[in-house]
Amino acid sequence: MILVLEKGLGQYGEREVLAKLDALGVIGQLGRLYTDTVVVIESDVATKPTHIFSQIEGVSKVLRIGQSYPKVLEHKESTVKLERVVIGGGAKPIIIAGPCSVEGLDQLLQLADGVKSVGASILRGGAFKPRTSPYEFCGLQEAGLAYLKEASRNTGMPVVSEVMSEKQIEAAHDYVDIFQIGARNMYNYELLKEVGRTNKPVLLKRALSATIDEFLYAAEYVMLGGNNQVILCERGIRTFETKTRNTLDLSAVPILKSLTKLPVIVDPSHATGKRNLVRSMSRAAIACGADGLMLEVHQNPSKSISDAEQAISVEDLALINSDLEALYQALQIMDAPNTSAKNAGEAKITESVEGQPIEGQLVLSGSAIS
Ligand code: PEP
Ligand code: MN
Repeated sequence: MILVLEKGLGQYGEREVLAKLDALGVIGQLGRLYTDTVVVIESDVATKPTHIFSQIEGVSKVLRIGQSYPKVLEHKESTVKLERVVIGGGAKPIIIAGPCSVEGLDQLLQLADGVKSVGASILRGGAFKPRTSPYEFCGLQEAGLAYLKEASRNTGMPVVSEVMSEKQIEAAHDYVDIFQIGARNMYNYELLKEVGRTNKPVLLKRALSATIDEFLYAAEYVMLGGNNQVILCERGIRTFETKTRNTLDLSAVPILKSLTKLPVIVDPSHATGKRNLVRSMSRAAIACGADGLMLEVHQNPSKSISDAEQAISVEDLALINSDLEALYQALQIMDAPNTSAKNAGEAKITESVEGQPIEGQLVLSGSAIS
C-alpha cells in the first residue's frame, strides 16, 4: 500500500502521519513519487480496511497494490474431500450431475442411478430454485431436500443443492453434503458469511457479471467465516452474444488456478444454455484444467420442468465421461516431465482407470449431442 500525502504538509505533518501509523502497529517509510511525498507501507495490511488510512490527517490518497483476498491467495490445501470423492489437487476431474430441479422422488432416484452408472460421483438437484420469473416452478422446497437425501442414501453419492437464505441453510443442513451458492447470490455477502460459518463444502458459482476479482472476493467472504472448503464454479458470464445463454469464460479456469489452490469446476449447461454445445464445452473445460464438471441431466431432457433446452440425457453424459477419461489420460502424459505435447498422442497410455490398468492410444470419437 502507498499513502500519497497532501501537498505542502511539511516535516511536522509527515511525522504526524508516521506517528499515527505507528499507533496502528503499521510500519511505513517516507519517500518521493515524482512531485508527491508518499508513505510506502511495509506491513501486511491486506485485511485492514482502507478507511483507517484515508482518514489519517494529511493523507490525500490510498493506493492498494494487488488484491485483498489473502485467505484465497494463501490457502494451501488444493482439494475438497467428501468421503470417497476428491475434488482438485490433480485428481481425476469429477462429474456432478443431476436435474436442474428435483421434480419428484421417482424421477430423482432413477436419475441418480443413471448418472452414477455413467461416471458421476456427486448428485445435483435444485430444491430451492432461483427463477427469473416468480411465476415459474420454484422447486419442491423441503420435500426436494428429503428426496435428495434418499437418493444419496440409495447411491452413496454426496449431494449438492442451492441455498438462497439463512433459513434455507438451516433447512438443507441435514440433507445436503455441499451448499451451492448460485450465480445470482454470489454478491449476497450475508449469505456468503453464513455458509462460511458452516462446516460443509461450498460450491460457489460466478455471478453473471462478476470479474474474477469479485468472484475471489466472494470466496474470501466464505473463508473469512472459517470455512475453507470452497469449490469455484465458472458458469458463464453475460455478454452481448445471443447465440448462447451466457459466454463461457474458460480463460477464468487457468487464471483462477494460477491465483488460488481452490478447486475450479465448470458448468457448461448454464454457460451455453444449449444441449448441443454441452459436450464440446465439457471437453474444452477438461482440456484447460478444470477439476470437474457440473451438468444438468434428465431422463427426458426436453421435458425438464426447468432449463429443458440445456438438459442432456444419461447417454450423453456417458459420452462426456469417456471424453473426460481420455482427456485426463492425455493431459497426464503431456504434463509428465520429459514428455512433449508433440509425442503425447503417440505415447502409450498405461495409467489406470478406476483401478483397471489400460493401455492404448488416446481416442476421442463421437459426435455432438443433438
Ligand atoms: C443451478 O446450477 O441450478 C443454477 C441455477 O445455476 P446458476 O446459479 O449458475 O444460474
Ligand atoms: Mn438450471
